[in-house]
Parts: sequence; structure tokens; C-alpha cells
Amino acid sequence: MGPRSGGPTVTDPIFLSPPDIGELEESYLLRAIRAGRFDPDGPELSAFEREVAARVGAGHALGLASGTAALHMALLAVGAGPDTVVVVPTLTFAATANAVTYTGAEPVFVDCDAATGNLDVDLLADLLGRLAEAGRQVAAVVTVDLNGRCVDYDRLLPLCAATGVPVVEDAAQALGSTYRGRGAGTFGRVGIYSFSHNKVMTTSAGGMLVSDDAALIARARHLATQAREPVPHYEHRDIGYNYRLSTLLAALGRAQLGRLDAMIARRRALRDRYERLFATVPGTRILGAGDSGSNCWLTSVVVEPERTGWAPAQLAEHLAGRGVESRPMWKPMHRQPVYADRQVALTGVADQLFATSLSLPSGSALTDDQVDRVFAAIAEFLDGRR
Ligand SMILES: *Cc1c(COP(=O)(O)O)cnc(C)c1O
Repeated sequence: MGPRSGGPTVTDPIFLSPPDIGELEESYLLRAIRAGRFDPDGPELSAFEREVAARVGAGHALGLASGTAALHMALLAVGAGPDTVVVVPTLTFAATANAVTYTGAEPVFVDCDAATGNLDVDLLADLLGRLAEAGRQVAAVVTVDLNGRCVDYDRLLPLCAATGVPVVEDAAQALGSTYRGRGAGTFGRVGIYSFSHNKVMTTSAGGMLVSDDAALIARARHLATQAREPVPHYEHRDIGYNYRLSTLLAALGRAQLGRLDAMIARRRALRDRYERLFATVPGTRILGAGDSGSNCWLTSVVVEPERTGWAPAQLAEHLAGRGVESRPMWKPMHRQPVYADRQVALTGVADQLFATSLSLPSGSALTDDQVDRVFAAIAEFLDGRR
């Protein structure tokens, strides 16, 4: 992004969630390169898997090339495939639905609740009943812990247990979050994380599968390693995938994991500051506010234009003019051309949140000076509309 003609000179663009990488990561990566092991059986990857499992409180972990690959493996592991359906929240990143499609299963989209943007549990109960009546085999319910806030698992888990449907927890955004003291990613039969470049911690690209079920993880490990049978020659009984996380990137992940709490604390401080600011602006609120367990991955403000007299797109435009990135909430999956004809259970809340919310710079790598610039730009916008 260069200087804009007519506007103020922008020398230092401020991004939504830039990677927080420094000398520690450099030293870990260099050490891994010098150790000379580049295969997935090297010690860095298994150490990273053990450390993530210990951090979140899961029995076993499997390092994979991306969060999307982890979702794909998780869904195959619970039996998603042709002639099954998988319930997916409509307010999510496309990877959640795409991974379902990779397996041959059909995604069915369900709406969310207004306070958190997370899957609407009452609507899910209704939908599971209707799918059962229609004789559909539901392979899984995928939950997405949006912006780092966990789904209401006290209500969701008994419902899924009663209907015998396994839960796959897409905790791509929620590594380090907790719900009633328990780690995000550990609530379903299997959970996944993403270490993509804009997530709470990153390996530039990467993901992980976690589960207490050792056999499930062993099966996923087999499939993700080209499904090579343990014999000297190349023997295959399944279609495999080349999905393992690079051992070098695992080293990067170990450095990041050691800083996870500090990075979350920084995101939380930013969230608190946004909450204090928007508490003074009638007609605005922070999505999923008031959750002490969230890792505060992204902070999104929800705006009621009838009350504020301005729309989130106007704030976004003002911020862009000051070199500050912001972004609307995910466009719901049922609105995506590629998923337009799918079965849905809707209340209109996801559409409403898509139209009225804006995610603001939330990254732990933002300097104090950059944060001050973001708040100055927002204050300038608000002053201009009072
Ligand atoms: C980031 C993300 C993914 C995909 O993770 P990648 O590592 O980019 O493949 C999946 N689901 C959600 C909810 C995400 O935010």
C-alpha cells in the first residue's frame, strides 16, 4: 500500500493480524536447519506435537501442513464421506466447508447467535431432528470458535451426544482459548488448529489435529503420510495425502508456542481497549465481548447504523485512508456462489453480522505506536460524526 494521492502520506500500513516473529523464531529455525533433519520423523515435529498436546490438554496431536488439511483429516477420521452430511456454521472461513466437500460429504449450513457469532445451538437441535427424520446420515457437527471465543459447549455437547453425532472442533482461531478452564480444540472427538500467517501463533503455514483417541490420530497420521504401509517397499491400501507439517516449521512453532501466553495477553489488552472505547459509542458493541477465556484473535465491532448514523463500511474507508486495515466478517457460506444451492437452517443473524460488523487491527505484533495510530484514526472518525 503506497501513499494515496490527496490523502495523508501512508508510510507504515497497519495490518489486521500480522505475524509476530522475531529473533527467538530465527534462532529455533536456524538450529533446526543445522540439525540436518528435514523429514517428518525428525525430532522437532514430534516435540512440537507433544508440546501443543500438553499445552491444550489433549492426549495426542498430529502436525499437518495447514488447518484445512487438519480439518480434512479430522472429517475422514470421523467417517465423513459420500452419502453423509456434515453440519457447518454458515459464518466461517470457507476452509471449514471446503474440507467437508473434499471428503464427498455434503455441508449443511446452520446460522449463528447474535451475541457471539457462534453456531446457534437451538437451531442445530432443530436441524438435527429434521435431518434424522429425512433419513440423512450426519457424520459430524463442525463447531467454529469464532474470533477465539468458544461455542457454548455445555449446551452443544449433550445435544450431539444424545443424537450420536461426533463433534469436530474447528479451533483454527482459538488456540490458547479456554471454556470453563478447558482448552479450545479439546471439546469434540477431534479438534484442529491453524498456524497460518495471520493466526494467534504462526508457522507461516501449518496446522494440527488433536484428540484423546490414539487410534484416530494414528489413522490420520497414516493417511497424511501417503498411506505408506510399514513394509520396506512402497505398499498402499488407502489413498494417502502428503499433509505433514515441515519439521523446520515445527521448530518455528515451538518458539511461537513458548510465547503464546504473552502474545494472547497483548491481543487481550487491545480487545479491552476496544471494549472501553466502543462502550462510549451507543449503537456499537464488540462481538463475543465479556469472555475471559477468549484468546481475542480478532476484535470485531458490530454497528447498528440506525442508531450510530454511520455504517461500518464508512469506518473501514476512513481507516483505509489512514493506512489502517480492517475487514468485514466472513461472508456467510450460504451466500457464496459455490455453496449457493445447499441445504440451510437460517435465522438471518449471520447475514446481519456480515452486513454490520468490522474486524479491527488485533495482532500482538502491533507496536504501541501503531495501536495509538489506530485509536487516533477511530477517534477522528467518531468525532467527525457526533
Ligand atoms: C484459518 C482458518 C482455517 C484454515 O486454516 P489454514 O491453516 O489457513 O488452512 C479453517 N477454519 C477457520 C475457522 C479458520 O479461521
